[in-house]
Amino acid sequence: MENNYLDIYGEMESEVRSYCRKFPVEFVKSRNEMLIDVDGNEYIDFFAGAGALNYGHNNPFIKKAVLDYLAEDNVIHALDMHTKAKHELLECIKKNIFIPKNMNYKVMFCGSTGTNANEAALKLCRKIKKTEKVISCTGAFHGMTLGSLALTSDSYSRNGAGVPLENVTFIPYNSNTGLDYLEAMLADDHSGFDKPAALFLETVQAEGGINIAKVDWLKRVERICRENDMLLVVDDIQVGVGRTGSFFSFERAGIKPDMITLSKSISGFGLPMSLLLIKPEYDVFGPAEHNGTWRGNQLAFVGSKAGIEYYIDHDMDSMVKSKEKIINNELQDKVITLDERLEKRGIGMIWGIDYSKIAPDIAKKVSVECFKNGLVIELAGRGDTVLKLLPPLTIEEDNLKKGISIISDATKKILEV
Ligand code: PLP
Repeated sequence: MENNYLDIYGEMESEVRSYCRKFPVEFVKSRNEMLIDVDGNEYIDFFAGAGALNYGHNNPFIKKAVLDYLAEDNVIHALDMHTKAKHELLECIKKNIFIPKNMNYKVMFCGSTGTNANEAALKLCRKIKKTEKVISCTGAFHGMTLGSLALTSDSYSRNGAGVPLENVTFIPYNSNTGLDYLEAMLADDHSGFDKPAALFLETVQAEGGINIAKVDWLKRVERICRENDMLLVVDDIQVGVGRTGSFFSFERAGIKPDMITLSKSISGFGLPMSLLLIKPEYDVFGPAEHNGTWRGNQLAFVGSKAGIEYYIDHDMDSMVKSKEKIINNELQDKVITLDERLEKRGIGMIWGIDYSKIAPDIAKKVSVECFKNGLVIELAGRGDTVLKLLPPLTIEEDNLKKGISIISDATKKILEV
């Protein structure tokens, strides 16, 4: 059938549109790991709203909480005023996350996008340390607004800024040579290196190509920050909320960031929301110093609370660890064996298949073939050479395996093996 209904997008919508070009159908229904298009075709979703749908599409438990809240004429928009939804979310975070993990953080509600939480963190670090310089990592992605974009490494995104992106020094990610250099520069009062306010990092770079920082490296970063009076900010926007097998991705390293940014799946139901968690001693913004209309998405707060309850009740950490084994084994047996130049990387339920050693365009061709066969899957990394597996954490095991079989078949077809 001709997809004439798609014409309106080309005619009306800006050229900036992106994912819809890769998955050129109109989606009408969704449930857990499944998406259904207007023609009734079904797709397994290995993209999960770029990490916003850890609990799956239309998770029934979370949906009920959201629908009940709507049905009762509760407050929907409230800026940052006190509401039942916010109150209950704060209590839920305290009881289920902070107390069991022995964490002491203030919660800042930011303007609904991930990038806004990173902007808030950046401003706050600069305010605290009274200097504008910060450190970021090669391969980093922190968002598309100017402050976050300055922390982001890829040249295509940076070139869109239209102004110089300044005051950020990049160090090689997950590399001890990078930290040797940083330490040497910080120690030398003739290095010409202005002391930074903070170091920003993702413990697993998602957009960067599924690069997983080593525990020792993360610990060393923390030590360098402490010894040099620099703040450590962990961006857990894509890999927080259980993705790596613990609620926060940095738990495996036992580090205690000074600030943590969260968005995407923290809202549970896929509604816009972002948080900046701040160690109390750094909670120094004045009232309204980082303001915004959309800091009070009450439906997102309701979804967030229900999501955290679902997380605890379903022991999602164990769920992720058992599915991690399935993904690892299935990828090994069905994909990596196809060509010795293929490489897999992953932790918890974020995995990448790196096709770069074969040719730059293979991952892209494989992803197009996957979509034709009913799998929504995105690319990541330098030159989009890595296929990124990011299914909802709640995906049924048979569909997890089926999705990997689709990748396997697509790889065979493109590599002609
Ligand atoms: N930080 C990380 C690690 C991300 O993956 C993203 C989005 O993909 C962002 C920040 C930006 O979030 P948003 O697109 O909601 O602004």
